[in-house]
Parts: sequence; C-alpha cells; structure tokens
Amino acid sequence: MTDRPPSGCRHCGLPERGHGQRWTEDAGWHTWTQPTDAQTKQRMLARRADRITTRAADHEIELTLTADVSGLEAAAKDATIAALELHLATSSRRYRALEAQLHAERRARLAAEAAVRRAEQVLDQCIGADHIGDIRPHLRQALTIETEETR
Ligand SMILES: [Zn+2]
Repeated sequence: MTDRPPSGCRHCGLPERGHGQRWTEDAGWHTWTQPTDAQTKQRMLARRADRITTRAADHEIELTLTADVSGLEAAAKDATIAALELHLATSSRRYRALEAQLHAERRARLAAEAAVRRAEQVLDQCIGADHIGDIRPHLRQALTIETEETR
C-alpha cells in the first residue's frame, strides 16, 4: 500500500502539504507541482488495486484458518469414533464373557435340579422302609441348599 495520494506531486508523488523543496533525478529541485489527470487517474486505480489485493490476501488467510480448524475438528471426531469403537469392542467382549458365565451357571443349576429330582425318586422308592422315610426331609433340604450355592 502506498501512502502517496492521487493528488501527490507530479514529480515525486508527495502530498502538497509539507512538500517544500524536493529533489528528484528527473526534475531536480522543485516545489509541489499539480499532477497530470492521467497520473491522478493512474494513482487512483493503483490504490484501488492495492485495496483489492489486501482484501483478497486477508480472505485467503481466513480461508486457510477455517480449513485448519475443520481439519482439527475432523481429527477430533476421528479420535472420538476410534475411542467409541474400542469401547464397543471391549464392552462386547465383556458381554460375551458374562453371557458364557451365565450359561455355565444355568447349566449347573439345571444339573443340580436334576440331581434333586433323581434323589427324590430314589427316596420315593425306599419310602416303604420307615427309617429311610425319616431322613427324607433332611436329605432334600441338603440337596436344595447345595443347589442355591451353585447359583
Ligand atoms: Zn515533488
């Protein structure tokens, strides 16, 4: 950006105010001289072009910053997704382990219940003998307690 006004001196471009005596290669010593219309017009066009270039440069920087920020946001989203995927994989492994444990416990419980039924059948077959009928409630209770513990 030039700070030389369109109405600057014909020879050196400086403003009239404060010009005084100046020296240039072409004009030598001179006082402020009215610029030509062509010079004024040329300087106005140059000044406008400077402003447009500066605005474009500012805009370019703004675009670059925006691109950087969205790049960071995308990276953050990727990291979040990766963390969630890891969490999901860990959770589903844990879920499968718990499911397997539950199935094992269920099998153990069914086995214990089957054992109780078998024991009851054996006791029923022996019920004719009075002394075996006496121990039946005790045997049954013992088996039931064992079943509760395996749960
Ligand atoms: Zn001058």
